[in-house]
Amino acid sequence: MTQRYQLFINNEWVDPLSGLWFDTLDPFSGEAWAEIPRANKEDVDRAVEAASAAMDGPWGTMSATDRGLLLHKLGELIEKNADNLTLAESRDNGKLSSEVGGQVRYMAKYFYYYGGLADKIQGAVIPMDKPKVFNYTRYEPIGVVATITPWNSSLLLTAWKIAPALCAGNTIIAKPSEHTSASMFELAKLFIEAGFPPGVFNVITGFGNEVGEPLVTHPKVPRIAFTGGDEGGKRVNLLAAQHLKRVSLELGGKSPHIIFDDADLTRAANGVITGIFSAGGQTCMAGSRLLLQEDIHDEFIERLLAIAGKAKLGDPTRSDVQVGPVATRPQFEKIMEYIQIGKDEGARCILGGNARTGEGFGAGQFVEPTIFVDVDNSMRIAQEEVFGPVLAVIKFKDEADAIRIANDIRFGLAAGIWTKSLHRAMLMSEKIKAGTVWVNNYRSTSFTTPFGGYKDSGLGREGGIEAVKEYLETKSVWISTDLDMPDPFVRKY
Ligand code: NAD
Repeated sequence: MTQRYQLFINNEWVDPLSGLWFDTLDPFSGEAWAEIPRANKEDVDRAVEAASAAMDGPWGTMSATDRGLLLHKLGELIEKNADNLTLAESRDNGKLSSEVGGQVRYMAKYFYYYGGLADKIQGAVIPMDKPKVFNYTRYEPIGVVATITPWNSSLLLTAWKIAPALCAGNTIIAKPSEHTSASMFELAKLFIEAGFPPGVFNVITGFGNEVGEPLVTHPKVPRIAFTGGDEGGKRVNLLAAQHLKRVSLELGGKSPHIIFDDADLTRAANGVITGIFSAGGQTCMAGSRLLLQEDIHDEFIERLLAIAGKAKLGDPTRSDVQVGPVATRPQFEKIMEYIQIGKDEGARCILGGNARTGEGFGAGQFVEPTIFVDVDNSMRIAQEEVFGPVLAVIKFKDEADAIRIANDIRFGLAAGIWTKSLHRAMLMSEKIKAGTVWVNNYRSTSFTTPFGGYKDSGLGREGGIEAVKEYLETKSVWISTDLDMPDPFVRKY
């Protein structure tokens, strides 16, 4: 029996006006396990009305302190209900239950952090260059925020947006990926339990063209927070620009992971494996281009083969499994295509390169951890995002060479550097064009620090105090204390 979800609008569960639902599949078994409402433009209108009205309701007049306390309460409920949220999310995206569980518990901290920040958003009194006037700034919420998110980490990537947006006093319409919507409905239940007023958080589900675009173009949605692929991101940006909306985009990456010959190679090898094979490489920040200094190339490859060659693939709910299935069938096919492209381009596949099927592999949506050597940075396998467990290895000579190769790409999301030299670490961190640089670690994120992309990897930042500013308008207020009558036709400067 599959479970049927309803849309969540104005704190109520409602059927989609289309009267249609679609199946969501478990990527391991390949079977449908829940039915997701297929919302349309009219449902978007309903959600926007609710979210707009909520800005003028109790939420709009609530003190920032009380708003913060509500966020805190939500964080507690997320921790309390972590198992349930984890189950819904991992059944949809096929990631290891252990990884999703960790993400969900960590996600609670975003709400604690931004809950604490809510009543610390302060304007300033500005010393003026003019006499007899008092000027101050105040920060105000922008209004209704639409969050549009991908399938790889539905809940966490939504939390990156809604925690600062709610902290700033906005209301939300969450539009999760059509592949991973169930967990957002489970989260919505916690908003009711926490006591959020109606319309503050709404969930509408469906497809990019049927739900995403009406949301992005709706005149009463002034702010779009998007995470997803290039193509969707560019389309959203184009549509939003026509309506002069504020947009943040977290897009793809092809992040360089750079290993110098003076690095602790044991730790570096583990870091490289984490960077590309955890989550089956289905992460925007995957360290998918490995840059190896030429004198350690062969030794380092041996180390990688020794670890990755033993990776256990299988049922992602089992605690001994290290790599789960690919989240969706189209993504599985895309990864297999890229493996063929790499071979056709002349790169040498020294590990994996195959799908895994048969007993223990469910519906067979598995790709083996795959390593290509003899890769030239101009190859498609080095330039394009695969979003799977495929590592492209490129040799470099020295710092200058590594910087040149690392930056010779249209993406700029993240980079990893392994070295014991402080000088090298600082030089590389400065020269690499990426929003995040990890030195002697990889794939860490935190609510306390900004995350986002240079170049085609996106616009704006999520995380830290900076993120709240992205959900606020600044108003400058001038109060005259002048008792003299000014000349009505001459403006004084
Ligand atoms: P996608 O772009 O296909 O979909 C993302 C979301 O956008 C979905 O909810 C989808 O329904 C919606 N959408 C698609 N077209 C739309 C349109 N025209 N208008 C409005 N909404 C639209 O991405 P995906 O395949 O789900 O996710 C994988 C991509 O996400 C990868 O490229 C990855 O790098 C990127 N990603 C980036 C980050 C980051 O933080 N930078 C994090 C995770 C994933």
